[in-house]
Amino acid sequence: MTKVAALYICTGKYIAFWPEFYDSAEQNLLPGCEVHYFVFTDAPVLYGEEANPRIHRCPQEAYSWPFATLRRFEIFLSREEELKAFDYIFFFNANAQIMTTITPEMFLPRADRGEHLLVVQHPSFYTKPNYEFTYDRNPRCRAFIPMGLGRYYVCGGINGGEAAAFLKLCHTLDKRIRKDLAHNVIAQWHDESHINRYILWRRDVRVLSPSYCWPEGWNLPLPCRILIRSKARYFDVQQLRKDAPA
Ligand code: UDP
Repeated sequence: MTKVAALYICTGKYIAFWPEFYDSAEQNLLPGCEVHYFVFTDAPVLYGEEANPRIHRCPQEAYSWPFATLRRFEIFLSREEELKAFDYIFFFNANAQIMTTITPEMFLPRADRGEHLLVVQHPSFYTKPNYEFTYDRNPRCRAFIPMGLGRYYVCGGINGGEAAAFLKLCHTLDKRIRKDLAHNVIAQWHDESHINRYILWRRDVRVLSPSYCWPEGWNLPLPCRILIRSKARYFDVQQLRKDAPA
């Protein structure tokens, strides 16, 4: 049976998103595959963990914003040895919710087409020309993309791929982010900027529509398969970011 690792970070207030994500994934995500959940959290217990040995709680201290998101590759790599045993690895933003059945055919990279990684077009940019993409435009940043380049702007919230290809991405981006931090540089949209730079010249990437990153309250003319729940329903995100130490 195909083994899939779903990576999920929920530190601090983001723990509130876990129960609905988990229930929706159990119901709808990749039927026929064995899905394991690697949940990086500072919460002492997780909804569902007692009953389900496929939930792996990975103790993770809460980083202040934006480091929980920026340092995610380092967080994932802390479990690299276990993750190597999977066929595929996918990351889901904490506020994701799987709304319809998502089959392997719909979601997995297609090796017969040379695909190894999976990304999702960002709902704000999929109809826009590339000069409007919010790629990182700072030449000192390792996520820099000059104007005029780039076919897709993809979201940071849902991505993955074959285990080896995704772990390679994690190593490369972790190194680039560390180098940026050593030079006091933070990419404009953190991990998202780095993922966009990583796929810029690659042809081995399956690119899905924003159906798989469908923000709650929007009116996209596409079916909603993965809903990105409004954080405002759960907590005051602006306050959370203001409270973060500079
Ligand atoms: N995150 C977390 N705790 C935090 C901040 C972020 O666990 O205090 C994780 C969580 O998985 C979240 C992801 O980082 O979905 C991205 O968070 P952020 O709110 O910065 O980005 P956005 O939701 O705007 O993509």
